[in-house]
Amino acid sequence: MRRREREVTEREEIRKILDEGKYLHMGLCDGDQPYVVPMNYGYLYEGDRLTFYVHGATEGYKYELIKKNPKIAFALECGVMPFSGKMACQYGMVYSSVMGKGTAHIVTDVKEKEQALTVLMKTQTGKDFEFNEKLVSIVNVIRIDVTEFHAKRRPLPEGMQKQGKMEE
Ligand SMILES: Cc1cc2nc3c(=O)[nH]c(=O)nc-3n(C[C@H](O)[C@H](O)[C@H](O)COP(=O)(O)OP(=O)(O)OC[C@H]3O[C@@H](n4cnc5c(N)ncnc54)[C@H](O)[C@@H]3O)c2cc1C
Repeated sequence: MRRREREVTEREEIRKILDEGKYLHMGLCDGDQPYVVPMNYGYLYEGDRLTFYVHGATEGYKYELIKKNPKIAFALECGVMPFSGKMACQYGMVYSSVMGKGTAHIVTDVKEKEQALTVLMKTQTGKDFEFNEKLVSIVNVIRIDVTEFHAKRRPLPEGMQKQGKMEE
């Protein structure tokens, strides 16, 4: 990371970004052309291991790509807010983000699918939901085993004005 002073390394701070982000942009390999798809996620952050679960319809282009090449990259962000200054180069964005790489696996084990959707709903809503075989049979679940990631935060520079909220 070029701006090392902006790197976020504290686990609890990383967790806050993961809690707030809610959706990630999953970059897949489509031959020599990247394919990026936004998806809501649930996450597990245990020790140094970060895992995402995403879910969707049982068919779609992203699954075809994962079957051919499971390598993915991802980016997620939260707290995005523009700020302004006197000169054009003083304009910018406040943000917190996590970016990384990993491998995507289409989950077929029913118990893991149930657990994945519980994790997903916990991240999305903060609530505990239970799933059964019937409910999980109508969706596909992808597990992303993250192999490397970094978190970064750009705070509001001193003396800069917030321009207005882009998101809550
Ligand atoms: C904030 C956000 C959260 C989302 N969360 C989820 C989620 O949790 N689960 C989920 O399954 N989907 C989610 N979606 C929708 C998702 O981005 C895809 O549209 C969907 O998953 C279908 O992707 P696919 O690769 O299977 O495309 P297919 O339905 O197979 O279609 C492929 C074609 O449609 C185009 N296309 C696909 N998606 C989009 C799109 N979003 N916008 C414009 N063109 C598109 C592609 O360029 C491609 O040409 C979310 C979208 C947004 C914006």
